[in-house]
Amino acid sequence: MRQVVVGSADDIRIEDVPWPAAPGDGQVLVRSALVGICGSDLHACAGHHPFIDLPYRPGHEVVGAVGAVGPGVDGFAEGDRVVLEPNVVCGKCRQCLDGRYNICRELAVIGCQTPGGMADAFLVAADRLHRLPAEVDNTLASLVEPLATPVHAVRRSGIGPGSKVAVLGAGPIGLLVLVAARAAGATEIVVTDVLPGKLERARKLGAAAALDATGPDLLDVARGALGDAADVVFDCVANQASMGQALELVDKGGTVVVVGVAAGPTTVGLHLVQDREITVLGSLMYTREDMSRAISLLASGAVTADDLVTAVFPLAEAARAFAAARDPEQIKVLISVDSS
Ligand SMILES: [Zn+2]
Ligand SMILES: [Zn+2]
Repeated sequence: MRQVVVGSADDIRIEDVPWPAAPGDGQVLVRSALVGICGSDLHACAGHHPFIDLPYRPGHEVVGAVGAVGPGVDGFAEGDRVVLEPNVVCGKCRQCLDGRYNICRELAVIGCQTPGGMADAFLVAADRLHRLPAEVDNTLASLVEPLATPVHAVRRSGIGPGSKVAVLGAGPIGLLVLVAARAAGATEIVVTDVLPGKLERARKLGAAAALDATGPDLLDVARGALGDAADVVFDCVANQASMGQALELVDKGGTVVVVGVAAGPTTVGLHLVQDREITVLGSLMYTREDMSRAISLLASGAVTADDLVTAVFPLAEAARAFAAARDPEQIKVLISVDSS
């Protein structure tokens, strides 16, 4: 079968590898249908991802169909449409026992630290799969995993009805934080980015204001649009400039949630964190309940595939797909695995 291997940004190739063995105890063979390219894949192929070593075999945003079911697997049958939850966890550490297995001490991610689903098929433990309802077609389902991260971040932030929110960065994660924050009841939401096309998408998805992140009076304009400082700021960029803006936009006693993957150490205005009692929270991936919530949000029509999916390439053109995904005007680029 075919499997994508990434050696660097200029070395994205398709290897011919053996088909997976028959599924063992508790395992399912999944035939991939659509696989998303994530911001973390772009960091990884550029050699900038702090936790992905090259070469690697990508594919953690996977929609597919059950091809075969191993012994002892209940609840899945051949042909079921599924989405992958790529966390691989120990189940024994303190974090796992507390239900926070997204930060398991032994965490590995399928398609990051272990071979992923950007291939004709892959084997996975049945408990890493979620069945898709009929209302969520495969293209829409490609947003389940990307939406689960924002759902988790919003849950950690504690926002609720009436919250005032700022979202820094209007890539796929920022736009989906906007969707998840609205669903959680946030009323005023301001989004910032440097690209007009992304700001336009944020407006369409219900942002009260979508502002140029480099505008000279950004902080004043953002506060004006919110009518106040923000209760919560989601930093989906996670660089020096965005962290500085986050600490200035958030209200005294408010919360900054770091959702973006920072390339390395970043200076944080600790004097503001202390003086204003600002809570700075990290947010990593999601757990099963966040994935389930993402599926029901998509089933409810909170966002459509057209709002985010900007290109689909066949698996054979994986290198072109990665090149397209590097174009900042793109939002979500998918690879379609047509194994015919
Ligand atoms: Zn991802
Ligand atoms: Zn664990």
